[in-house]
Amino acid sequence: MIPFLSLKDVTALHGAEINEAVSRVVNSGWYLQGEENRKFEEHYAEYIGSRYAIGCANGLDALIWIFRAYIELGVMKPGDEVIVPANTYIATILAITENGLVPVLCEPKLGTLEIDDDKIEQLITPRTKAITVVHLYGRIAISPRIIALCRKYSLKLVEDNAQAHGCVYGPTGQRTGSIGDAAGHSFYPGKNLGALGDGGAVTTDDPALAEAVRTLANYGSQKKYVFRYTGRNSRLDEIQAAVLDVKLRYLEQDNSHRKEVANYYYDNISNPLVSLPERLPDAQNAYHLFPILVAEGKRDELHDYLAENGVGTMIHYPIAPHRQECYAKAAWNTPQLSLPVTEQIAAEELSLPVGPTITPEETATVVDLINRF
Ligand SMILES: *Cc1c(COP(=O)(O)O)cnc(C)c1O
Repeated sequence: MIPFLSLKDVTALHGAEINEAVSRVVNSGWYLQGEENRKFEEHYAEYIGSRYAIGCANGLDALIWIFRAYIELGVMKPGDEVIVPANTYIATILAITENGLVPVLCEPKLGTLEIDDDKIEQLITPRTKAITVVHLYGRIAISPRIIALCRKYSLKLVEDNAQAHGCVYGPTGQRTGSIGDAAGHSFYPGKNLGALGDGGAVTTDDPALAEAVRTLANYGSQKKYVFRYTGRNSRLDEIQAAVLDVKLRYLEQDNSHRKEVANYYYDNISNPLVSLPERLPDAQNAYHLFPILVAEGKRDELHDYLAENGVGTMIHYPIAPHRQECYAKAAWNTPQLSLPVTEQIAAEELSLPVGPTITPEETATVVDLINRF
């Protein structure tokens, strides 16, 4: 059996230190808003290369707080538009709609699977306030062109870095999460930097945004029993912060394992039914997932064939956000909205195992099976 991702094995990789960190917090008697959060936030901000990191409950909340903070700060108002890739995990879009902002969906490029920077400018209107890029699958999604558009039209650049901890932007060597005005990060257990439960963070260099996010995620309060905003309880707990601080020390090592697996796939998969996304320089892909596209309606067949042979694969994602029931009646989701590339990806994408615990023999087995399909 080659599982898609065994969280048990992932935790066991650094099990002794994780258990030690958890016990330390359990025995400390201090479970929220303490030293573990302070330390992890400092280390994570340093790792990402941003001035501030603010822990919060999960990645969806991190993105929600960024937009909400911009609204509280008067930078955006409900009804404003945010350009966002149409093929993403739905959380990116929920964070926009949750705040009464309007998502303007942009097609990805079939070759990169990331937002198509040739198609962004035509979507900009006087109501556009931000471009959200998602470094989907761990791949760099920001380009010099996107940065130039943000400058030209005075737009905020928001990064969804939920899948790309450790990914680097080629032109400057900066880590993703430090390139835009603000970034949302997820520490969902399966992510490259995963907690033992939910967790998230916002990174930014903007002190006003950082303060607003921290306040919103703590009931809207800076001072006990004094409430500035109608916030929520969306904090990262001390146990998760302590676990994340351990795992952060091994993130580069875990990511280089992912890169070895991915490079093996690139060098050896040769089935003509399968196409691989454009190969990026190693640093520009954190290989959270290894997506392939399977032609001629054979994606589900390949999934089942691999499953029968003991290999776990997953689809990211089988139904595009604009096809979801929750957005069926959304005003922006018009019948004219045409997103053929997004729909092709939803129909053809399959993710191969690429986690930090898959062995070289297992990787070779996956390739042999695919090439014999
Ligand atoms: C996982 C994920 C999120 C949400 O993170 P949670 O911690 O699960 O709330 C947001 N965006 C993308 C692209 C993700 O993959």
